[in-house]
Amino acid sequence: MSTSQHLPYGRQNVSEDDIAAVVNVLRSDWLTQGPVVPAFECAVADYCDAKHAVAVNSATSALHIACLALDIGTGDLVWTTPNTFVASANCARYCGADVDFVDIDPTTYNLSIDALTEKLTHAKIKGRLPKLLIAVHFAGRPCDMAAIHKLSLKYGFKIIEDASHAIGGYYQRQPIGHCQYSDISVFSFHPVKIITTAEGGMATTNNTELANRMRLLRSHGITREKSEFINPDQGAWHYEQHLLGFNYRMTELQAALGLSQMQRLDTFVKRRNQLAQMYSKNLCDLPLTLPAKSSPDAISSFHLYVILLDEGRANLSRRELFDKLHEQNIGVNVHYTPVHLQPYYRKLGFRANDFPAAESYAKKNLSLPLFPSMSDAELVSVATCLRSILCEHSVSKEYQYAYIS
Ligand SMILES: *Cc1c(COP(=O)(O)O)cnc(C)c1O
Repeated sequence: MSTSQHLPYGRQNVSEDDIAAVVNVLRSDWLTQGPVVPAFECAVADYCDAKHAVAVNSATSALHIACLALDIGTGDLVWTTPNTFVASANCARYCGADVDFVDIDPTTYNLSIDALTEKLTHAKIKGRLPKLLIAVHFAGRPCDMAAIHKLSLKYGFKIIEDASHAIGGYYQRQPIGHCQYSDISVFSFHPVKIITTAEGGMATTNNTELANRMRLLRSHGITREKSEFINPDQGAWHYEQHLLGFNYRMTELQAALGLSQMQRLDTFVKRRNQLAQMYSKNLCDLPLTLPAKSSPDAISSFHLYVILLDEGRANLSRRELFDKLHEQNIGVNVHYTPVHLQPYYRKLGFRANDFPAAESYAKKNLSLPLFPSMSDAELVSVATCLRSILCEHSVSKEYQYAYIS
């Protein structure tokens, strides 16, 4: 029952139009700092109905300059979820801030609002409240942003949405990136994400000052705006460095790919949701926890389709299941090892059992292959393979008679 071709957990979708768009840039005068980056920024800002979008060379860079724009520095405290890619926490460390985590909700795998509320109560008593919370829309499922925003008003912290998984999703009928409940949202365009620019990222915001600071920071802290000059203007060559910035610029080639991909964003997200529904229908009788049903208020972009293995009922370990699926060319993956258990964060003092819900989740999860060009037949072959492995190991054989559509 092996799938002949290797099925990765995620794969980019690049069309002939995408390729033509990139080739056009190669034939043009501008490989960087030309007209296509602003056009891509406009397209994303329009899609998200946000005032500003700032393109950079990765989501990691976007998170870094977003933290700096929000004045995160040495001694400040930044909270995020342990169930994320390390970049969501590292960005605070780049700025010299301390990081702490909020445990996850066992059904959505996003940071738990109950855990956040409780942790804020204690932090207030101890006089060590966070200056910033980075909320991650894990697997594309929107966090409860209204609840987080309400808490931010009470306790006075800023909010970044790490929406690296979530472009094309909706929260309370607004596109993710609209920033109705946050200061800044960040997208990733790495090839496994929803749309790609190879490497690339974007920050959206409705705050003009934050957007201007991020624009400065992505390009050495240099401005060419006459009205902003501090020294007397010496001529047409004159520019000024006002901040210690970086070279985090996106190239014109990347922006052309992203701009072309934006036209298929809705199609990608629709297909991802369709495939997710098919998985749920095919796997519902197996000893697995499937993604919780989404509400009309929180529409997932389905970056990942995550299952949790009930090792006891399945009589099989997650590791064995992972290896057996890989033997069959099914490239399942694990998202994520909790960030606080990474050796770098352990050295900062975090230990096992600090965030039990995230740790329990991390022992059971597997991401199944899911990408827009995946066919129905490929999905059925993954489901069938998973079923036959679980059947082989099950004591009761209860699953083998189940109907597969
Ligand atoms: C992929 C990812 C990032 C980093 O994105 P890059 O564009 O590769 O820098 C950050 N946060 C999360 C949650 C991610 O999944």
